[in-house]
Amino acid sequence: SAADAKKTTYNITTDVTYPPFEFQKENGQYTGIDVEIIHTIAKREGFAMNLKPISFNSGAQMVLSGQMDAIIAGMSITPERQKVYDFSRPYYRTGVVWAVSSKSKIKNLSQLRGQTVALKTGTASADYAKSIQKKYGFKVSYFNDSNTMYNDVVVGNSAATFEDLPVMQYAIKNGLELRIPSSKVANAGWYGFAVKKGKNRALLRAFNKGLVAIQKDGTYDRIVKKYLGQSQ
Ligand code: GLN
Repeated sequence: SAADAKKTTYNITTDVTYPPFEFQKENGQYTGIDVEIIHTIAKREGFAMNLKPISFNSGAQMVLSGQMDAIIAGMSITPERQKVYDFSRPYYRTGVVWAVSSKSKIKNLSQLRGQTVALKTGTASADYAKSIQKKYGFKVSYFNDSNTMYNDVVVGNSAATFEDLPVMQYAIKNGLELRIPSSKVANAGWYGFAVKKGKNRALLRAFNKGLVAIQKDGTYDRIVKKYLGQSQ
């Protein structure tokens, strides 16, 4: 039962920087939609946890190796991951877009032929980019976090990057000098909280119970609106 989740302190990993889902405030404290969701649910469901920011790919691997109990990191629920993770109910809609420097004249993917594209290791957007790499003939360069990946495009080392729509839109809105040339969203899906398949069942149940409760009573909407405004 969800009550079993009360017996331990869970180690839950999040990304080091993935605004508006997780990011550091100026005082170094972590904030964001995922951070507030997990703290709120833990408090309501009565389980103890440590939230540990680790680069996405490492954190995701550490859940599989048992070093971490769970992950909440703007993590896309994908069929491949569902073979090795158990996901919570979906909580936020996502999909993959590509972006270029705001100064770039690139309008379509064909213009990326022979150019380098910046990708984040182990992500759904990197998988999508790899799936169309042959067709469009671009080279790839890998980064462990979104900030350094975006920066590679801003400074002109890479011609483009692939990233989740809500994350890319938020960064651009907050001054990142990138532009999304096409409104087409690939691999539309959802974010979910995840544990290793078959492990931490009580934690997963507690998360789902808490998620339903905060979605019902308006807490979830208040958290999202705090970061994204009324229009979301
Ligand atoms: N949503 C993407 C994925 O799950 C990226 C997650 C992230 O970079 N934190 O692969």
